[in-house]
Amino acid sequence: MAAVGRTLIWNGTLIDGTGAPPRPATSVLIEGNRIVAVGSELRPQDLNGSQPLTVVDATGLTIMPGLIDAHCHLTYGEVRTEEELDLYASLEYRAIRAVWNAQKVLRAGVTSISDPGGSGYVGVAVRDAILAGMFPGPRMTTAGRFLSTSNSIADYYPEWVGVPDSSSGVLVNTKDAMVDEVRRQIKSGVDLIKIGDSMFGQHQAFADDEVALITETAHRLKRRVTIHARGPGEVAAAIKAGVDWIMHGELMTDEVLDMLVQSGIPLCPTLTLVANTAHWGERVGASPRRVYFYAKHLEKAAETLTKARKAGVPFMAGTDSGFAITPYGHWHARELELLVDYVGFTPLEAISIGTRNNARALNLAGELGTIEVGKLADLLVLDGDPVRNIRVLQDRARLRAVYKDGQSVDLSGPWPERTVWPHERALIAAREELYWEDVYPSEAVREAITSRLQTDLALEPTEVRE
Ligand SMILES: [Zn+2]
Repeated sequence: MAAVGRTLIWNGTLIDGTGAPPRPATSVLIEGNRIVAVGSELRPQDLNGSQPLTVVDATGLTIMPGLIDAHCHLTYGEVRTEEELDLYASLEYRAIRAVWNAQKVLRAGVTSISDPGGSGYVGVAVRDAILAGMFPGPRMTTAGRFLSTSNSIADYYPEWVGVPDSSSGVLVNTKDAMVDEVRRQIKSGVDLIKIGDSMFGQHQAFADDEVALITETAHRLKRRVTIHARGPGEVAAAIKAGVDWIMHGELMTDEVLDMLVQSGIPLCPTLTLVANTAHWGERVGASPRRVYFYAKHLEKAAETLTKARKAGVPFMAGTDSGFAITPYGHWHARELELLVDYVGFTPLEAISIGTRNNARALNLAGELGTIEVGKLADLLVLDGDPVRNIRVLQDRARLRAVYKDGQSVDLSGPWPERTVWPHERALIAAREELYWEDVYPSEAVREAITSRLQTDLALEPTEVRE
């Protein structure tokens, strides 16, 4: 039998993901895909033996668990519109695009993700391709299409369009349809069932007993259930049904929060998409109205989630990466910064949420997400101190090494870039209306333009063409 390779990551500052304070001058020994020793006494010269040993000098660097994004839509393809999400690019193309995007996620230090839903069985195919060793990517669990009623987030279009086959959602308006869809999705290889309730918590799209039935069916077939639930009704229904974790939850009442605390069910708020829109949406063409709405929503979320933290709700962390406002490989660690800034966690607590706690989304709680003897060897070596400044985790240039399953990830070469085809895009003819007066302004308008340019912009007045 060939000797199993060993890697010693030597003499770094260890953040082990358990919440323990950082330990200086600590080394981690990996054998195969497991961590076999952790400590300050491990030195390269003492590790002689028959097995080959690779030594990585981490002097002055931080060693920590690989990040886990519990809410990453790997199959979306960085879409700008709802139509691009549901209608454009074939499922076949989306699958290939997703394996290509998976390498970016991994190169950003995200060694595991959970994909809570998307079109077809693209997530299942991508998970299996990565697992088979065909392409580099994070370890994955995945849902299929979101279960939706006509009142849900994923039944977005007018009734005369319906929910197209290529949509990220699937319409299940009756209990029979719900059970049928759960059975089919599980047969087709999903790890979890995603229920999509109303988009912004405006109403409860699934009745209590419907959420219970879906959860019961999935659990009987040994699969997990998660739910997009923002409002008090849907969060309460999810708690009563015993779903495995709840996504969002920002609009729950104090009463529902009490129920959540009692249940011990974790909450995965997913603030990154909201905060990116609120803070920088206007840079990328989000309307002022949308930006304002998300800013208000973020304020409300901060209030509710701070209460939830104080009440002892277990947290998970996810980003909703996969939209144009949250491209792959860029924002996965931003959620941890937002948990510090808006929810009041310490950086060390936020790191444990994004590593140890998130292992639950991979069905690997207790086996992944901490650097301890016997755990899966997913870890990062980083130039920076995330306890002092949590944002350093977002800076890919600081990553010195990434290990997934004990294997070193290739970080060399330029960041992957690609062509985006017209068939991936919705047709947007203009972002604003072109009025006649804009082209042929009256004398008064011309004067106003001229004077604005002179005063506000301190530029030369431009000639207005006839
Ligand atoms: Zn999502």
